[in-house]
Amino acid sequence: MEDHNISAVLEQFRSQDRIFSNFYDLHAKGKLGEFIESLPDIKLLFQLNDRHFRCIDERTPGGLHAAGPLILMDEAKAIRLLRTTRAEGLYSHDGCGAAGLAFANVEESKRNFYVNSDNYGMFYAKELAKKAGIPYVGHLPAHPHFHVARMAVYDGSGNFDNSERKLKIAGLPPCFVISRRWHDAADAKNELGIAAKIATGDHGYGSLIKEKAPFLFLVVGMKNKDFSLHKLMDEASAVASEFAGKVIVDGFVAPV
Ligand SMILES: [Zn+2]
Repeated sequence: MEDHNISAVLEQFRSQDRIFSNFYDLHAKGKLGEFIESLPDIKLLFQLNDRHFRCIDERTPGGLHAAGPLILMDEAKAIRLLRTTRAEGLYSHDGCGAAGLAFANVEESKRNFYVNSDNYGMFYAKELAKKAGIPYVGHLPAHPHFHVARMAVYDGSGNFDNSERKLKIAGLPPCFVISRRWHDAADAKNELGIAAKIATGDHGYGSLIKEKAPFLFLVVGMKNKDFSLHKLMDEASAVASEFAGKVIVDGFVAPV
């Protein structure tokens, strides 16, 4: 993590300790999924307020999700995805890591035109929205300037709503959301890996994430076999195995 915000990073991390020590306990007993399924407000987390695409970033919650959003995906595939998901709009956001990755691949003369990856992300989202025939709905702020999530939801329902208010009501912490429902397994696993890399890297909690305080992949399974809990847990476990004990996997079945 960057030196200048170390105390803010620590404070954010510790503010989630109570929730996570309970989660780790339940996980060790094989009861975390059951616990989450029995939360009284769990249904609220599966009622989206809008169908605008946003990044997987925990600081851009609500709606539908894809890294960037969609800036790392082949354009034709991205447009198809916006159509099949009946997306109603597209947001870009401040400090987007995926836009940063895409910007690094833009040729230098064009990079000068965009100046920075935020402008590039905004420009890209506007163009993509236009091509898909949906509105570009704005550039979201991202506060604080580091990632605060200790968990990523691998969502087989496509409707998991990580709005701050809803998570608070249910007693869940901030989380990345990977919309597995709308991506093939390869793309979704790639996004899940990006989330864990961010959280365990310089823009997230870095070395605070360790075997004794692991990052959590929380899988949302469905009753149908294409997105069953068992299948998606296997996918998430394959990604977790790349993080040397620093990522644990658990899951529950969506109440829908
Ligand atoms: Zn982003």
